[in-house]
Amino acid sequence: MAIKILLDAGHYSGYNVSPVNSKYNEGDRMWDLHLLLKTELEAYGVTVDTTRSSKAADKDVYNRGTAGKGYDLVISEHSNASTTETTDYPVVIVPFNDKATTLGELIAQTIAEAMDTAQSGRTMKRTYVSGNNTYDYYGIIRGAVAVGAPGIIIENSFHTNPKMTAWLLDDDNLKKLAKAEAKTIAEYLGININGKTKTTSKCNFYKKSNIVNGSYCTLAKGTAVTIVEDQKNGWSKASYNGKTGFIKNTCIKNISGLSGYKKGIITKDVSLRSNTLVEKSTDTGFIIKKDAKVTIISTFTQNGRKWCNVKKKINGKSTDCYIVKSKVNI
Ligand SMILES: [Zn+2]
Repeated sequence: MAIKILLDAGHYSGYNVSPVNSKYNEGDRMWDLHLLLKTELEAYGVTVDTTRSSKAADKDVYNRGTAGKGYDLVISEHSNASTTETTDYPVVIVPFNDKATTLGELIAQTIAEAMDTAQSGRTMKRTYVSGNNTYDYYGIIRGAVAVGAPGIIIENSFHTNPKMTAWLLDDDNLKKLAKAEAKTIAEYLGININGKTKTTSKCNFYKKSNIVNGSYCTLAKGTAVTIVEDQKNGWSKASYNGKTGFIKNTCIKNISGLSGYKKGIITKDVSLRSNTLVEKSTDTGFIIKKDAKVTIISTFTQNGRKWCNVKKKINGKSTDCYIVKSKVNI
């Protein structure tokens, strides 16, 4: 089973303008961070969805948490605020059931190192009592816990600290932060260990699993790469230098432990689309019948709609096609 993570950008666009730097607002910048984190986690083979399809849209925080039903983890990205400009530490707010305390500690340490904060990283729990029950104070954590998913809030230091605010506004820094957080999460979930390998000969790092679309670069023999998935067609999906691409299996050592594709069963006759732009006529002309078995290459959300990527031989060529996820039982 592939790991599934739901990512949340804490606030809507324009929310919480930094009092020390008007160029920064938490809503927009944490939106950027959660998308960068999505890309980095996907490079580890994680299935990642987001709580909102547009940064202008707001959503009730409790409902963001309950949207995490079926996910292994729910993460909400924030920057913190203090009345003191010198306050500078990352804090990860974890559920009081302790299901994510270790992960929270690891992420807090990772951020403290990546951002070089003045004070050390830490975790925090906040609860309230109603009747005879204790609840997590923050809605997204409470909602996630209610549906059985560990939910955490990451405060990436303080946007009331001028140095850290400037740091977060730098695009390279934000990417570095996303990369560091993804690595810690992947390691905690035991994902990336199996996928590490080295090239056994000089080879190309291709953009697609064919040579027609060209390559990003040539990799020297012995280059460390992370294999995300064996495509079972002579190619492996791989991650190198922050990019996801493809390598011929003949150029890498056989590595075990990678998850294969998931199978799905069609629950209702559904048309196979050549792309996911709903406003265009995009049908391939093929209908997949109810109860048919399909191999799911990946799942993703676009404009709030969930899709499955499948392959279909069209005119003798294996072609990427799409099915709405609501009609597939995976
Ligand atoms: Zn916030």
